[in-house]
Amino acid sequence: MPEKANPFAMAQRQLDEAARILRLDPAMHEFLRWPMREFHFTIPVRMDDGSVQVFKGFRVQYNDARGPAKGGIRYHPEETIDTVRALAAWMTWKTAALDLPLGGGKGGIICNPKEMSEGELERLSRGYMRRVAYFIGPEQDVPAPDVYTTPQIMAWMMDEYETIVGHHAPGVITGKPIPVGGSLGRGDATARGGVYTVREAAKVLNLDLEGATAAIQGYGNAGSFAHKLAVEILGLKVVAVSDSKGGIYNAEGLDYEKVLAHKQETGSVINFPGADSITNEELLELDVTVLFPAALEEVITEENAGNIKAKIVAELANGPTTPEADVIMHENGVYVIPDFLCNAGGVTVSYFEQVQNAYNHYWSEEEVHRALDAKMTTAFHAVHETARQYNVHNRLGAYLVSVARVAEAVRLRGWI
Ligand code: NAD
Repeated sequence: MPEKANPFAMAQRQLDEAARILRLDPAMHEFLRWPMREFHFTIPVRMDDGSVQVFKGFRVQYNDARGPAKGGIRYHPEETIDTVRALAAWMTWKTAALDLPLGGGKGGIICNPKEMSEGELERLSRGYMRRVAYFIGPEQDVPAPDVYTTPQIMAWMMDEYETIVGHHAPGVITGKPIPVGGSLGRGDATARGGVYTVREAAKVLNLDLEGATAAIQGYGNAGSFAHKLAVEILGLKVVAVSDSKGGIYNAEGLDYEKVLAHKQETGSVINFPGADSITNEELLELDVTVLFPAALEEVITEENAGNIKAKIVAELANGPTTPEADVIMHENGVYVIPDFLCNAGGVTVSYFEQVQNAYNHYWSEEEVHRALDAKMTTAFHAVHETARQYNVHNRLGAYLVSVARVAEAVRLRGWI
């Protein structure tokens, strides 16, 4: 088995390439290769059996030249500082691609939440907040949910922060439940944002999506809402979907409500009545107009990139395409909407949550959708135009947009 690449080294290599094309000043390039600040700490937690366990936690503020750092907190047994650094770097580029007035950050705790009781999780979450409270805040750094962290965990963390500072401050964290300052429209925001970018891609490619076909890998939050909204907003016919157990195919199209009900009843999309079985690998290579990878990283590689027949690949998942596959698909004329543009709807609505918290005034779902559409559409065209201008694939185009924006803010502040 090849050793897993260090994700932070990969994030630095991606920046290096953008820096070379943009001819970044060497000091600026060096500055952007590293986190501006990072915190490592220990969190002692009283467990239910009376013992005390000491957990390790991190918070990385990668860059805040454009605004407060923004990024989730992950609870994972294999969390490492390099994963957190890489994810914080990617958040910096993602918020800049969307032109949000935010920087990038990420946090994590090495723990296995599946083996912890609700009480232990609450004490761990409040303990994490006691460690970071003096370094974060609505105007410094705003965390959010991520792998294995939930709206309930965000509510506990917000409550602990407010206890420490002595006043209401819901804007310290996003992804909260609605009754304590969450935003409407957060649930389907990632898929919705991705669907808006597919609509724009179809315009620049002169493709008619009404009645055209789509396939979706993964049927969790991102994938299942993509099914619903691809039909509702774009008029696409979704012919194949999958989850970790396998996939289903029906050339006439799959009904969202029925597939969702089947998944809720049986725990999987497989064995859906009236559909044929296909593997996850076959799903990726179907002759469809739009392919949504919405599950795992590194599913489109050197091996299968040449077999991808979709005209548009909309990356709702993080990192589904390897760098080699990117080049192959670009040469074959497959239009890839890169992850940190395609799946940025979630962080964009998180930003709207912060804005609503700051005003203590809450928007209707329609207002959220309208504002999300405007942000995603503008970001899509900035990336598309830049990729055309430099004659590079869209992922590199997105890096060029983001790195140039962050570098400009750093320069204007007089840091470099
Ligand atoms: P989720 O846990 O809700 O769903 C994941 C889905 O992938 C499940 O249906 C699971 O069965 C399926 N899956 C797992 N292993 C698979 C395999 N080997 N083959 C096919 N399917 C498999 O997760 P999610 O929130 O929908 O996130 C999916 C992807 O989207 C991740 O890469 C995530 O980082 C990215 N993303 C999600 C959001 C969000 O707001 N939910 C935001 C940005 C990016």
